[in-house]
Amino acid sequence: MIAVDGYSACGKSSTAKEVASRLGYVYIDTGAMYRAVTLFFLQNFINLTNPKDVKSALDQVNVSFIPNPNTGINEVYLNGFNVEEAIRGMEVSGKVSEVSAIPEVRKAMVYLQRKLGKNKAVVMDGRDIGTFVFPEAELKVFMTADFDVRAARRQQELLERGEMIGFEEVKKNLQHRDTIDTTRKESPLKKADNAHVIDTTQLTMEEQIEQIVQLAKSIIDQ
Ligand code: C5P
Repeated sequence: MIAVDGYSACGKSSTAKEVASRLGYVYIDTGAMYRAVTLFFLQNFINLTNPKDVKSALDQVNVSFIPNPNTGINEVYLNGFNVEEAIRGMEVSGKVSEVSAIPEVRKAMVYLQRKLGKNKAVVMDGRDIGTFVFPEAELKVFMTADFDVRAARRQQELLERGEMIGFEEVKKNLQHRDTIDTTRKESPLKKADNAHVIDTTQLTMEEQIEQIVQLAKSIIDQ
């Protein structure tokens, strides 16, 4: 089990995806799971402050992963529909941290994550994988990068999706998510004591992938 945690927009998902593919492991994007739930809540106008509404909405949500037939990489499905694209826009990004701070939401997703990871040979990326979901993970990585570099990367990602968002707005969204993610009561984002820190500010994608692959190989070869 390889747990890759860290801040938003420091290259976690792209890195974890490629690490999984080089090692022949399964990739699970737990952020995509919280994003899919958020999409459902937005589409159905769920009142986040009403626990009854949240609970009955969660009963109607089915999040699953199916590998893309061309790439072999897992993509996220919400109630049978591929939502890999729909969950990446600003609308979902603007609400996902509020939704994922709700204890019932976390309970349901963590249950699913533990089920998905139980057979191992998995790279799972998120915020609380090494601290809470799989504290016994054999390798834990905590990724970070300078705030402005993260914001620039996220802005570029949005632009590639056709969403032209100003730098200040992107920074505001990241700041907002960082604050909620690191201060929420339930398993907040923090580095696990035994995690390897990778600061990606000055690294290329290839360098950060290789660092993790080498760490993994040194453990696998033991
Ligand atoms: O990884 P990504 O940026 O797509 O995650 C979106 C949001 O989902 C995060 O900002 C965080 O609020 C939430 N999240 C979480 N726990 C995880 C993964 C993501 O709370 N394990």
